[in-house]
Amino acid sequence: MYRSLVSPGKYYQGKDIIENLFTHIKYMGNRYAVLVDEFVIGLIKDKLVKSSEEAECQLIFIIFNNESTDDEANRILGIIEDNGIDAIMGAGGGKVIDTAKLVSDRCNLPLVVIPTSAASDAPCSAASVIYDEKGTFIKSSRMKKNPDMVIVDTNVIANAPVRLLVAGMGDAFATYYEARACHQSGTTNYTGGRHTEAAFALAKLCNDILLEYGVEAKQSVEMKEWSEALEKVVEANILLSGVGFENNGCAIAHAIYNGMTAAIKPFPIMHGEGVAFGTIVQLVTEYMVNNQWNDEEFKEVLNFYVSVGLPYSFENLGIDNPSDQLLMEISEATCSSGPNAHKMPFEVTPQVIYESLLRVNKLYGLN
Ligand SMILES: [Zn+2]
Repeated sequence: MYRSLVSPGKYYQGKDIIENLFTHIKYMGNRYAVLVDEFVIGLIKDKLVKSSEEAECQLIFIIFNNESTDDEANRILGIIEDNGIDAIMGAGGGKVIDTAKLVSDRCNLPLVVIPTSAASDAPCSAASVIYDEKGTFIKSSRMKKNPDMVIVDTNVIANAPVRLLVAGMGDAFATYYEARACHQSGTTNYTGGRHTEAAFALAKLCNDILLEYGVEAKQSVEMKEWSEALEKVVEANILLSGVGFENNGCAIAHAIYNGMTAAIKPFPIMHGEGVAFGTIVQLVTEYMVNNQWNDEEFKEVLNFYVSVGLPYSFENLGIDNPSDQLLMEISEATCSSGPNAHKMPFEVTPQVIYESLLRVNKLYGLN
């Protein structure tokens, strides 16, 4: 089996970096389209316009209609074609970015991703999730390539809601444990090959940074102030987590999130929060199947969750006293929601997951 590694073409990150955005992207052409939602446009429009004028580039803004659908991608594609655009930017959260990826993939124009929060590992990857008009998940598809450039302004992130940063830490924190499981099982990553040593090292580094700087980064966003700790955690949430998950693979942590979204509708928890809870379930499953409870590791994880405010129990997820039926539904959906649950180095059945969920509920539940 070959090894493979993919990443965005370029990754730039820094305080106020979008004020000089066009010095970094001007080589892509003269006419740019920015896909952005109604809220985010107020945060970045003036800065982007000023930078484009200084670089003598033209800019049009396309307001996103809030859902990452096929129709929306085609609508935007029409505007891009009518305006002779040279490159596309997607500025905002996951759905804007996913739609910009789809559009760029279809018209083969360069893509610049500008995440305005650090809530998930999506910006750097070649994956795009499509929904229907009602927001129901349809499929996750892979683009021909990763974004040409990801530009992260850490001052913008410092001013985003703190819950987004914490959710991103949950998503990023899972990366190492899922990479470890994929490493042990020898499974393939999202790029078709096995993980490189580099990818595994990035997943570990991601974990180390969060444990050391997570609390401090959260505090700086609470005060809406940039800090060196925030800079490090943003790199963990966006670059290390993104390159880490794509090049190592996901496992139970993400499978549990997918299973919960299928069993509990509407699912009120952010992606990274659900994945964080999934990491707890994954660790408990590993300890139970191997008949070896790693108390040191589990305490380290729990202490981190408590210190930054990530969910580790059903109660934290807002589900008090989950019924046996609900636990079974989550277990079945977890195992049938795609390949992630089956990337572990042992066989995972709904019964295995169900017993882990019971154990998690006993450890921290109300009953
Ligand atoms: Zn994720």
